[in-house]
Amino acid sequence: MSQFDYLVVGAGFAGAVCAQQLAEEGKSVLVIDKRPHIGGNAYDCKDEHGVIIHPYGPHIFHTNSKKVFEYLSRFTDWRYYEHRVLAVVNGEHYPLPINRTTINRLYGLDLDETGVGAYLDKVREPRDPIRSSEDVVLNSVGPDLCEKFFRGYTRKQWGMDLSELSAGVAARIPTRTNDDDRYFGDSFQFMPAQGYTAMFTRMLAHPNITVRTATALDEIRGHVTWGHMVYSGPIDAFFEHRFGKLPYRSLSFEHQHLPDVQQLQSVGTVNYPNDHAYTRITEFKHLTGQMCEGTSTVREYPQAEGEPYYPIPRADNEALFKRYSELVEQEQSVTFVGRLAEYRYYNMDQVVGAALTTVKKLKNK
Ligand code: FAD
Ligand code: UDP
Repeated sequence: MSQFDYLVVGAGFAGAVCAQQLAEEGKSVLVIDKRPHIGGNAYDCKDEHGVIIHPYGPHIFHTNSKKVFEYLSRFTDWRYYEHRVLAVVNGEHYPLPINRTTINRLYGLDLDETGVGAYLDKVREPRDPIRSSEDVVLNSVGPDLCEKFFRGYTRKQWGMDLSELSAGVAARIPTRTNDDDRYFGDSFQFMPAQGYTAMFTRMLAHPNITVRTATALDEIRGHVTWGHMVYSGPIDAFFEHRFGKLPYRSLSFEHQHLPDVQQLQSVGTVNYPNDHAYTRITEFKHLTGQMCEGTSTVREYPQAEGEPYYPIPRADNEALFKRYSELVEQEQSVTFVGRLAEYRYYNMDQVVGAALTTVKKLKNK
């Protein structure tokens, strides 16, 4: 029977960072993933037409953490990329996050920055305290912009109303009074120059790391031994749903290749808050900078069942997660880290940050 110091379940950001850090400390690490590849949801590859795509939906790297950026820079070069999004409202394309251009074009105005600030002050519905995502949106932009840009999209994405979701969900989208039309405001906005999979390959290339893909945790129990486990899958599945299922939101991805189109959209992503069953269409060439014939896109259709992609931030789900995390405290031989294991709506950089902190504690044990 093979023996390892650590078993890492999941080869996404959480698992790869932990494995890399432990291997560097001289530990032997087995990384498994039930999928046939590394990278978790950030995995990228070429489609059958040679266009680089993200099979699990568009992944754009952005962070304010110099530490995270410098850490990942050990495993990749970067390509400068600032993501831009347009939202279609009544057949017209408007910049999102809402900015000066959005307001002026939507309402036929010609306001300067101060004017837009005053306009928003007039239309906003001040809320205190701010508890739900509805509070966030009404408090910043008022009811008309809420209905046009947020309520329908949120209903599609989560299968519930803005008022039923924690404030943090809508708070991801800022409101601007200037002309800044970038989706993210972070100080580091780059894509891995050779892609995410290449970056993960380098992270896991350490001689102390063994990688087995297409291998689920249940399949290796009894065949391998380990001293400590790092688990990055869904926390409720680990405990066999003892307290009931934690809700995760799923998606189905519709990939399309257009051989005769060089560029379908003027920006990387177009959102459809009020039309269609999908939330958004992303055209990958914008994200990757690839120069090639034809173009490939993905439409995201939210759904309740299927692969768990998003924790659903709500007080009752948080309470159920807390019950599972009490079990975690008793589980001395397992460490839980990542978006599914911590039930946190983490971006990639936040997972890297969380994994670096977690593994540091592990190393000090
Ligand atoms: P995951 O990437 O989910 O990895 C967990 C891995 O564990 C999976 O590969 C799974 O197969 C494996 N696993 C689970 N259970 C088992 C088991 N029992 N046995 C073996 N293996 C198992 N973040 C950004 O920063 N920017 C973006 O633009 C962005 N876009 C996104 C778009 C979509 C559609 C989605 C769903 C997420 C997006 N994210 C984005 C978030 C990003 O995907 C996550 O923050 C990050 O990938 C989470 O890493 P992780 O390692 O925690 O989890
Ligand atoms: N959102 C919205 N309209 C949009 C874009 C976003 O209402 O056009 C809301 C929606 O609730 C969404 C949340 O803001 O789930 C966060 O959006 P983000 O683009 O960050 O979601 P992700 O990329 O994680 O799916």
